[in-house]
Amino acid sequence: MGAWLCQDVRNSSMDAIIRGTFFSTSRQTGQGSLISTPTIIPRAEHSISRSEISENALKVLYRLNKAGFEAYLVGGGVRDLLLGLHPKDFDVATNASPEQVREQFRNCRLIGRRFRLAHVFFGREIIEVATFRAHHDQSEAEGEGHMENGLILRDNVFGSLEDDAWRRDFRVNALYYNIADFSLVDFTGGMQDLENRELHIIGDPETRFREDPVRMLRAIRFAAKLDFQLEPEMAAVIREQAPRMGDVPAARLFEEVLKLFMHGQALRTYELLREYHLFKYLFNDADELLDSHGAYLDPFIRQAMINTDERIAAKKPVTPAYLFAVLLWGPVRKRVELLQDEMSVLDALRTAGDEVVRELVKQVTLPKRFSLPMREIWQLQSRLEMRRGKRAYKMLENRRFRAAYDFMLLREQVGEPLSELCEWWTAFQQEDEEGQARLVRALPGSKRRSSKKKPSVQTAELDGNK
Ligand code: ATP
Ligand code: MG
Repeated sequence: MGAWLCQDVRNSSMDAIIRGTFFSTSRQTGQGSLISTPTIIPRAEHSISRSEISENALKVLYRLNKAGFEAYLVGGGVRDLLLGLHPKDFDVATNASPEQVREQFRNCRLIGRRFRLAHVFFGREIIEVATFRAHHDQSEAEGEGHMENGLILRDNVFGSLEDDAWRRDFRVNALYYNIADFSLVDFTGGMQDLENRELHIIGDPETRFREDPVRMLRAIRFAAKLDFQLEPEMAAVIREQAPRMGDVPAARLFEEVLKLFMHGQALRTYELLREYHLFKYLFNDADELLDSHGAYLDPFIRQAMINTDERIAAKKPVTPAYLFAVLLWGPVRKRVELLQDEMSVLDALRTAGDEVVRELVKQVTLPKRFSLPMREIWQLQSRLEMRRGKRAYKMLENRRFRAAYDFMLLREQVGEPLSELCEWWTAFQQEDEEGQARLVRALPGSKRRSSKKKPSVQTAELDGNK
């Protein structure tokens, strides 16, 4: 048997990482029914150490195990540890029912309807505990109202560990770390995929994407985040099935969209979403503009994604509202262009922002805590131009100033004629009181009331620019 040693799989030859023959046992029949014997990789032959697992996840695993239940770490936690990455959270799978899990922990809440789960709270950390699920038999599930036209509505049919493995989305997400003996259990061939750096869906791609079209977004997310290839047959099915994304409720998409750009490979994710025509089902207006006026919008979004990835690499916080503001800026500008003859730029930004948000929520629900700051960032683009008197000082105190300023720098970076304004604000933040006063005094028209203001959102590039 070989050793699963892994630290940095991205750069290593897997031959050096994995030596052995423990991938030969799982296979699928033509109809998608499965014959499998799990591959068990003992502790000595894989690289996952308890020191890398969150203490709270370990507590949950040990407690369940002590109470006589099976308990495994599964999903992203196992996958990322094997790839030498830092998991963002740890998911637990068990044969205990949600109620039995709740009995074990005082700090536990049961959540979800479509998929009932136990959340065990440890301060800010939540360990998600899921009871083993079985795959749906489509005709039975339709009869019981669990499925509709192949789309899973509820997923609460409990099963065995093996059932649970086969109903997961991708093979690399179906690896289990057994707390009873610290071994890894692989039913589906996920270890092989980690070696090949290729993402495979479990079962027939068409059926699995029909059951849950969000899996297409997840495929893109994992391919980007892990730097994996999409398995070619699955990739072809994604291109074909992308319109099924239209069946996904807007509320569900919000959570998935948040996850798409926060894992450190936002740029790649954006590229793949566009390439596979999935972006359209999240941001339709922006997608249309990218097709017709990509020359401005594409570099703008790309630069924001690059900045986001750099911030995440530097462990700096990222604000989702800012990213949404970026993704929807194209449609906002387009509307401002149409509106600004009838009203002030500030009013046009406000109206355009309302309209764009109204359109967006038809596709992706956006809670107010995101849509309000997003709209403020847009409106401040106009206010940043109004610097005379006390305005600049007030603006510095605005809690969205930083985001709005960064947003303006981004616009400048991709060619909007804002360099004077950007330099002024950069200097204004750095100067002492005297220097700030000097900057304000030096503004054109500072002493007298200004006549009509120049429009602050430059929209010329949107015209006929491909
Ligand atoms: P992340 O690093 O983003 O947390 P993850 O793989 O852990 O990645 P989660 O959304 O936390 O993703 O889901 C945990 C696990 O649950 C997945 O690894 C997968 O096994 C399973 N899963 C999640 N969503 C689906 C789905 N839509 N269909 C089938 N299985 C899913
Ligand atoms: Mg996870």
